[in-house]
Amino acid sequence: MQLWKHLAMRVRGQKRKRKLRHLLSGFHKSTQALPDATIVFNDKGQVEWGNIVARQVIGLERKRDRGRMINDLIPDPKFQDYYAAANYQHPLQITSPVNDSIRLDVRIVPYGKAKFLLQARDVTRLQQLETVRKDFVANVSHEMRTPLTVIHGYLESMGESGDAGLDAWQNAIQQMRQQTGRMQRIVGDLLLLSRLEGPGNTDGKDCVDVPGILEMIKDEAQTLSGGQHQITADIDRNLKLQGCISELESAFSNLVFNAVRYTPVEGSIYLRWWASKRGPCFLVKDTGIGIDPKHIPRLAERFYRVDVGRSRQSGGTGLGLAIVKHVLTRHDAQLKIESEPGKGSSFRCNFPESRHLPQ
Ligand code: ADP
Repeated sequence: MQLWKHLAMRVRGQKRKRKLRHLLSGFHKSTQALPDATIVFNDKGQVEWGNIVARQVIGLERKRDRGRMINDLIPDPKFQDYYAAANYQHPLQITSPVNDSIRLDVRIVPYGKAKFLLQARDVTRLQQLETVRKDFVANVSHEMRTPLTVIHGYLESMGESGDAGLDAWQNAIQQMRQQTGRMQRIVGDLLLLSRLEGPGNTDGKDCVDVPGILEMIKDEAQTLSGGQHQITADIDRNLKLQGCISELESAFSNLVFNAVRYTPVEGSIYLRWWASKRGPCFLVKDTGIGIDPKHIPRLAERFYRVDVGRSRQSGGTGLGLAIVKHVLTRHDAQLKIESEPGKGSSFRCNFPESRHLPQ
């Protein structure tokens, strides 16, 4: 009886082992088949395992590199900083350590007990397409600029010529002038966006006199409003920022001019520039038409408008907030929008304390 029991237990044990081996080999096969490079390493940074794609794009040799440090395997300084900072919320783009023409999107995911999974996706093709898109927009805009300037210039002088033969055309000339003016603004904004899409954050290390810029923008806003809005400002005269003057001027003026354009006459607009506890802040608040909350997440997309007719009629290009978003990102700042339809909106730019320049 004892013997039977013993034999039955052995058979069961063997069956369990076979099942486990089968499971493990299935797991290995599926991870090897993953289209992305996958490497497992421990909390000391030592490599424990990697799949075939990791050999192709990162140069990992499974037997040779077992126990090797992950930051030794990927010597790119950007990866070194990323790994050292241990903040893996966002992926990182690097060039493959074994092939210069491959771009990789790397992410690290902590899992289990002190284990980390590094995944690297080949995004070379995506990046090429993105470059083609950017170049295309920049080239088309650039090519259109000169012909538009010529046409607009002739239309201006035709409108002012006083030639009796053109009298019947005055209405058409004026419309053509308006439309070419609009196209010029769109082309100008597209070119600016192309520049802003350039690499990294701004190299602008200027000491930006934001109070001076805001005074100027306020005067321009008064002109745009034609005195039909009440525009007030509360500006900290000593608060300066490190950044790029022309970019910040574009961003702030877009926000202020939008407030004028989307606020009916007799409404009010309030500008504020102050040092909050977290860093410098710029706020534009209006009592205008407001925005339905469902539109807010998409407002900074190019050509996204709540009401296309109203935007065009008030001289909009549909690119203003996209410019604002890019400029702020390049200055490590964030845009916060709050609005209530029929009541008004507030656009707030939060800059980090690191950009606050001492007086
Ligand atoms: P546009 O040239 O159309 O104004 P923007 O990118 O500057 O383009 O703004 C996108 C859209 O956001 C606008 O079309 C408008 O619908 C909305 N918007 C922007 N600012 C305001 C504001 N202050 N009040 C109400 N709506 C606004």
